[in-house]
Formats: sequence, structure tokens, C-alpha cells
Amino acid sequence: MPTIFDKIISKEIPADILYEDDAVLAFRDIHPIAPVHVLIIPKKAIPTIDDLGDDDEALVGKMILVARDIARDLNISEKGYKLLFRVGEHGGQEVKHIHLHLIGGAPLSENIHPVKKSSSS
Ligand code: AMP
Repeated sequence: MPTIFDKIISKEIPADILYEDDAVLAFRDIHPIAPVHVLIIPKKAIPTIDDLGDDDEALVGKMILVARDIARDLNISEKGYKLLFRVGEHGGQEVKHIHLHLIGGAPLSENIHPVKKSSSS
């Protein structure tokens, strides 16, 4: 099943694209949670970080370097930002196509904690 991100890669649906090459695409998140919220995705359809192969090492490195460059271009490098991969159900991943969130442009709260402190499932 193609995801919404496959449709952005194929230009079937529009996106605010900030970077594109043969392997990687970066575009603004449609529901930004901060002044800067960009998604960096591989063009290769990999559902989650858990599906990465050892041969994807360079691809993941490229995604991080693209995030670095976009952060510099958008002038948020000096103050800093967050890079986030959500993975699977507990990680809150909604779109099953690997994506790296670049979030910044304002001080960010530290709100990663279990939904229920007693839950272990
Ligand atoms: P995640 O919860 O980590 O799977 O994040 C998926 C992200 O994709 C969310 O932040 C959504 O706002 C974003 N998103 C979903 N559809 C689109 C779209 N068409 N264009 C840009 N961002 C999108």
C-alpha cells in the first residue's frame, strides 16, 4: 500500500519541498508543531527504522546531513533543534514510511514520557 509520502515523492499530491535529490526528499510538515517543522524522507519505501537494512547506513546518514543543511539554511542551527524518528506503535509513528522530523525555531519542551506511568504493554 503506497503511503501519503509515496504520493508526495511521485508528486501526486503537493508539498512544500525544501530539498530533493535521487535518494532523499524534504518538505514542510502539513501540521507544524513549531515554527520550523520539516520532514526528511528517503525515496526508498522503508516502513520503519526497524525495517532498515545494513546497506541503508549511507541513506540514513544522508537524511541527517540534509536535516543539518536545512537547519543551517533556515537559520536555526545556532540556537539548536530536535531531530526525531518515531518508530512503530509505541513511538507514535503514523505514516509507515521512515521520516526524520526536524523541529525548531523556538525553545522546545521535553514532553517524551509514557502515556501511563504504570503501563508496560
Ligand atoms: P509521525 O507521527 O511521526 O508518523 O509523523 C507523520 C507526520 O506527517 C505528521 O507530523 C503529519 O503532520 C505529517 N503529514 C501527514 N500528511 C502530510 C502531508 N500531506 N504533507 C506534509 N506532512 C504531512
